[in-house]
Amino acid sequence: MAKTHWKKLTNPDYLGAYALDDGKDVILTISYVREEKVTGSDGKKDDCVVCHFSERVKPMILNSTNMKTITKLFGTPYIEDWSGRRIQIGIEKVKAFGDVVDALRVRKFIPAENVPKCESCGGEIQPRGNMDAASMAKYTAQKYGKALCAACATQLAAQMKAAENAEQPQEEANADE
Ligand SMILES: [Zn+2]
Repeated sequence: MAKTHWKKLTNPDYLGAYALDDGKDVILTISYVREEKVTGSDGKKDDCVVCHFSERVKPMILNSTNMKTITKLFGTPYIEDWSGRRIQIGIEKVKAFGDVVDALRVRKFIPAENVPKCESCGGEIQPRGNMDAASMAKYTAQKYGKALCAACATQLAAQMKAAENAEQPQEEANADE
């Protein structure tokens, strides 16, 4: 039987244990998850579930262990519902092909971190498009004078526009300040 070099288990096009600085955990935002053809180092194509992140990192191939963990974390097995969620990823030693190798594991807890809050509704500010939650908070603070979630920012923008069109007195547009 042919032996498997551990490096064969590490596809450089995808996030791997090698990508974590000093083996430290990373917290990432799931952008979208989908099935993709992945070409292994042996040239063989396989259908894999691939998780793309909002941050500038390589996508990660999700195995069933990690998908089960994500399902438990967020209480939903539907990949569409995972978008925008934050997960913490770390390295665990696992047995593979008779060897012990470093593998990426989604941690079994929601990452503890300071999530910026919307100054209007008090809800958590979620990442949007290319912006993570912190960037959203900064962007809205610059544009509207306070950190806002996407829904409140959209609402405020519409109110401001309506106020402009109706030539309402200033108090109306600034009513909630
Ligand atoms: Zn809000």
